[in-house]
Amino acid sequence: MKRKIKEEIVSVGKRLYERRLNGGYGGNISVLDEGVIYITPSGVPKDELDYSEIIVMDFKGNVIEGQGKPSSEMLFHILLYKERADIKAIIHAHPPLATGFAIARHPITEAVHEEAAVLLGKVPVLPYEVTSSKELAKNVSEAFKNANAVLLANHGVITVGETLEKAFRRMEELENLCEMLLVADALGGAKKIPLKKLLKLFELMRVREGKIKI
Ligand SMILES: [Zn+2]
Repeated sequence: MKRKIKEEIVSVGKRLYERRLNGGYGGNISVLDEGVIYITPSGVPKDELDYSEIIVMDFKGNVIEGQGKPSSEMLFHILLYKERADIKAIIHAHPPLATGFAIARHPITEAVHEEAAVLLGKVPVLPYEVTSSKELAKNVSEAFKNANAVLLANHGVITVGETLEKAFRRMEELENLCEMLLVADALGGAKKIPLKKLLKLFELMRVREGKIKI
């Protein structure tokens, strides 16, 4: 299997940790390549991962390569890859500000910042379901029909991308957006980008209709 993909996953795990987007044990990262899923193992902190520990598995969760067990949350990774053909990478993390929004059941429904509007679109909050459960995986795969980032109540965040880098940028952008919203809130509340200009922005960015809905 491809060492380069395993090294990319390790690198993103370290970046998530270093930028305070994830605690060591929390979260998981996967990449789909040539019909198999590369995924972080269960029980290894993301800041201490070695590329040799990345698990390669099939769509049934059978390990093809690697010593440990795939992430216990592998189910929603599998369902998401089945659900949307454009998704090639998934990151689940527990960034403190965005997770705070998830704990408060506070979805992001308005376009208040250019880059966030283009990269993220609307970010819903899914009801709380126990980690690794079938119910959680089902809710996640349903929500991602219309989203690229989702908040999980009392748990964390999932972002997706056509590349691992894009999924990472979405995670980073979402955490930044939550910080901006908190500041705006303290200063009287966030104001929306006017709809007409938002549409102009999307045109400018050549965002395909239907991919990001605001
Ligand atoms: Zn989790």
